[in-house]
Amino acid sequence: MNGTMHFLNSLGLMALLAIFYGSLLRRRMSSELRKVVMGVLFGGAAAIAVFQPIYLGSGVLVDARNLIVGCASAFFGPLGASATLIITAIARVHAGGIGLSAGLASMVIAYLMGAIWARSVRSRLNSTFVSFLALGAMISLSLLGTLLLPAVLRTKLLSEIGAFSVGFNLFGAVILGGFIDRERRHAARESRLSNEAKTDPLTGLLNRRSFQERYERQAQERNRIGSALLVVDLDHFKDINDANGHDVGDIVLQSVGRLLSDTVRQSDVVARMGGEEFVVFLPNTEFGNARSLAERIRQNVQGAGLEVDGRQISITTSVGGHWHHGIVDLAVALKQADVALYRAKESGRNRVEFNLAA
Ligand code: GH3
Ligand code: MG
Ligand code: MG
Repeated sequence: MNGTMHFLNSLGLMALLAIFYGSLLRRRMSSELRKVVMGVLFGGAAAIAVFQPIYLGSGVLVDARNLIVGCASAFFGPLGASATLIITAIARVHAGGIGLSAGLASMVIAYLMGAIWARSVRSRLNSTFVSFLALGAMISLSLLGTLLLPAVLRTKLLSEIGAFSVGFNLFGAVILGGFIDRERRHAARESRLSNEAKTDPLTGLLNRRSFQERYERQAQERNRIGSALLVVDLDHFKDINDANGHDVGDIVLQSVGRLLSDTVRQSDVVARMGGEEFVVFLPNTEFGNARSLAERIRQNVQGAGLEVDGRQISITTSVGGHWHHGIVDLAVALKQADVALYRAKESGRNRVEFNLAA
């Protein structure tokens, strides 16, 4: 009973840490740092396990630490697991006793087994359940550390607690592996959904809503030289659809999206507002530069030389721009840029027109 409680306590602690890991996954931080933090916390859990062991003969400790070290190595990589191993080793050295060298050896075996599992066993097994069972079995090889014990003690330990230890490693690896896997899957799914909510599915550009967010955030930043908003609307796009089909029209829109991203600077923001209308926000840009970038967009679209299904498709675009100082509401800037766009369309299309802030 003492043994069962000890292992359940350790397992509960690790499960809590796995949930904590889930919240770390949702924070902006490097994955290496995240793994080191988890490695340190797992080390703490293992140290607690070492200091509340199931005693077996003088100086020999049996506890959940090999499961903890093995799992850290399996899930948090060499850097994270080294932190776990070092902290656990310090705790074990501090506890001392005749079983010290056997204990340290068993931890190193668990560490190596976790690493081997992560590198080459996990990917070979289709079922995650089976792969976690395999991890538990591999961690159980840490019992080989008992070879460093005097024969009498080794026999006593293996007969009294060997089977329990193996059973617990299998059980623990499945439970803990399941927890960590679930947290990873949930975090990955959330980040995929949030990316999908931000982008236009056809072109992969930002959609209207996330463009608005980016515009508002960027517009707040210090900016002495002004900003520009460009509305880029393809000319007679309806005719392109009518002549070539909607699917070809879609491919053209994708190409224009790529071309816009390639034409603008790193700091500029491109989005698809809907239909065949794109916008570009140019923060920190003088009027002259905004104008020449708009002109370059117009020229690049005209010269794109699109070929879809062996058919040559020529397109042109009109660009309406609004250039301003200070903070201007997106709705206002868009309206002004639209007025300029209308002028460009009226004067024959394939043109750039600007409206300057009054
Ligand atoms: P203008 O030069 O005045 O802008 O003429 P236009 O034909 O480009 O403008 P209009 O607003 O009349 O037509 C826009 C066309 O864009 C009509 C619509 O079928 C097409 N369109 C809108 N969204 C999509 C889309 O997602 N895919 C495709 N293939 N066509 C689209
Ligand atoms: Mg159009
Ligand atoms: Mg339009």
